[in-house]
Amino acid sequence: MRLLDEIAPIGPDPHTGGYLRYAWTAPELELREWFKDQAARRSLAVEEDGNGNIFAWWGSSAQPGVLTGSHFDSVPHGGAYDGPLGIVSALLAIDRLRESFEQPKRPIGVAVFAEEEGSRFGLACLGSRLLTGAVDPGIELRDRDGVPLSDVIAPVGKRADILERIGCFVELHIEQGRELPRPVGVASAIWPHGRWRLDFTGEPNHAGTTLMRDRHDPMLTFAFTVLAANKEARLRGAHATIGRVSVEPNATNAIAARVTAWLDARAASGATVDELVKAVHDKAIERAHRDGTAAHLKCESYSEETAFDVALRDRLSAVLDGAPILPTGAGHDAGVLSTHVPTAMLFVRNPTGVSHSPLEHATDEDCEAGVTALARVLKDLAC
Ligand SMILES: [Zn+2]
Repeated sequence: MRLLDEIAPIGPDPHTGGYLRYAWTAPELELREWFKDQAARRSLAVEEDGNGNIFAWWGSSAQPGVLTGSHFDSVPHGGAYDGPLGIVSALLAIDRLRESFEQPKRPIGVAVFAEEEGSRFGLACLGSRLLTGAVDPGIELRDRDGVPLSDVIAPVGKRADILERIGCFVELHIEQGRELPRPVGVASAIWPHGRWRLDFTGEPNHAGTTLMRDRHDPMLTFAFTVLAANKEARLRGAHATIGRVSVEPNATNAIAARVTAWLDARAASGATVDELVKAVHDKAIERAHRDGTAAHLKCESYSEETAFDVALRDRLSAVLDGAPILPTGAGHDAGVLSTHVPTAMLFVRNPTGVSHSPLEHATDEDCEAGVTALARVLKDLAC
C-alpha cells in the first residue's frame, strides 16, 4: 500500500479525483521514471523495446522467463488500481521471493505496457500490439489534439528477440465486475470486443427560426441510436456502450451539423458482437431516414475472443488452492500476449465492481492477498 500511496499523487484530476494518466503525457512519463527507479533499487535489469514498453528482469539464464506486470496509463478520470496494481504487485512479489531465493531458476520480468487503454491514440493495447507485430509500426494515429503518434515515439514494431525470452505471461489485474467470491481468481477468457465510430450528419440551422418539421437534426438520430444500442445489447445478453461523443458546432442555439459517437460492443461470442453491431447500425440508418440525416459506421478496432492457456490457467488455480476461474468483458495486454506465449491472468476482488471510474476500489487485504498469490505463482513457475 505504501508503493501505491507513493504514486497516488501522480496525475489525478483535482475535481473528480480520477486519474488522467494518458500514454506519453507528463504523469505517465513520471510513473515510468518511478518504475525505473524502483527497478534500480532492486537491481533489476531494465530494457526498453522501442515501442514504449519497459521490462525489468530479475535473474538471468538461458531459459525463457516468466513475465508479469501491467500498465500505468488510465482512461479519462480512471481509478487507482486498473493497471498500476499489477505493476506494484509484481515488484512486491519479487521482494517476497528474494527473502527465500537468491536467484530464480528462470528470469522473472516485470512489464510496463504503453497505451493499454487506448485513451490517447484510440487503439487499445497499442504497446503490446506493436511488440507482437499485431500493429504496423508505421500506423498513423493522432490524439484528440491532433498530435501524431510519430511526434511522441517512432515505434520499431515486432521484437521477436524479446518475445523469445518470454516463456509465459501472468498479468495481475483488479477485477472489473462483481463476480469474484474470493480475494483472488484466475481468468478463463476475454470476451471478443471492439470499437466503432458512428458519424451522424444533418443540416445545421437556427434553433429559434427553424420549424420543428423542417429540421434534419443528427442529435435525434444519435439519441435514438444510444437507446437502440442499449436495447439490442440487452436482447442478446451482450454489452453495448456509447460513452464518448463530440458535437459540431456544439452550440446551445444551433441545430447540430454533426454528431460523432463511439460504440463499444462486447459479447461472449464474436457472432453475437457482429449481430449486435449490425442491429445497431440498421436501427441508426432506419432512424436517419426518418430524420432526414445520414448515419455512417466504421470499425476502429476489434479483438477476437481470447481463451487463456488452459494448462497454465489450471496450474495457477491449483497453486492457489482452487481459486475460482472466471471470464471477463474487459480487454488486457494479456489478450494480445496470449497469441504468442502461454498467458494467464489473476484477478483481485473488486467489492463494488466499479472500474474505469474514480470509485474503483480494492481493499488493502485483497491487494495483499493478490501479492501473496502472485508470489506463489511466480515461485511455482520460476523458482
Ligand atoms: Zn487495465
